[in-house]
Amino acid sequence: MTHLELAADHGRMVEAENLASSPLAIRGLTVSYGEKPAIFSVDATFEDGSMTAIIGPNGAGKSTLLKAALGVVRPLSGRVTVYGGPLEGARGRIAYVPQRASVDWDFPARVIDVVLMGLYRELGLLARVTGRHRSRAMDCLARVGMENFAHRQIGKLSGGQQQRVFLARALAQDADLYLLDEPFAGVDAATEKAIIDVLKALNAGGKTVVAVHHDLATVTEYFDRVFLINVRKVGEGPVESTFTGEALQKAYGGRLAVTQIDGLALGAV
Ligand code: ADP
Ligand code: MG
Repeated sequence: MTHLELAADHGRMVEAENLASSPLAIRGLTVSYGEKPAIFSVDATFEDGSMTAIIGPNGAGKSTLLKAALGVVRPLSGRVTVYGGPLEGARGRIAYVPQRASVDWDFPARVIDVVLMGLYRELGLLARVTGRHRSRAMDCLARVGMENFAHRQIGKLSGGQQQRVFLARALAQDADLYLLDEPFAGVDAATEKAIIDVLKALNAGGKTVVAVHHDLATVTEYFDRVFLINVRKVGEGPVESTFTGEALQKAYGGRLAVTQIDGLALGAV
């Protein structure tokens, strides 16, 4: 074997290890709704047990990246592996909290029913809900401080309360990988605290958390890794080395005032 062949061989081994150990690995992913791609040739490796913020301006493709990872939108090219294998075999290990604005809140369901939906994979479509399932759903509501709202209509709750219920539904799934799309958008401070506490507890228990996050001021406090995107990947890695002023300028392309960046507790600016 030549040096070059050895190096290539080593590269393949490292790549195979990365894919096998990552809860979610994305390679060469391109998604397009029309002529212009929403995300282009994106590679991402989310590390097991990490807590990662996906960051980028509006329209950068953050929601699309999560949806493509979940198989909700079909990519033009690229591939997704979940715990080293195809998505189909691992759906039960992923919980997803969609962007709140994308949910139809007129849907006539009670809070407890929304949480029970998180159990449908386990229940099957026709199985009967038992007291045991109800009590598990109630436990999940209690973890987000919503146990007293179990019989309310979901549409009658405040935005923050709805977001807590969706987190409770994700908790009911008892997943290993939690994907959340802007979980803190439009919620009050008490809800933000409740949600981050739950996410940090999940993460402390070894779960992997990936959240689209819009508030640059809390990135350092909430997350240990970042993934920066603006259609193409801008960077990924530990917060200290990757969440830099330079990377933010690149991701936001001048749409971010320098004063905004100056105000942040950045790693290496
Ligand atoms: P982000 O979450 O970063 O704000 P999105 O992934 O929602 O970005 O959107 C990326 C781009 O794709 C945007 O230009 C958006 O307008 C477009 N887009 C998103 N969803 C659709 C859709 N269902 N149909 C057509 N275009 C879409
Ligand atoms: Mg979005």
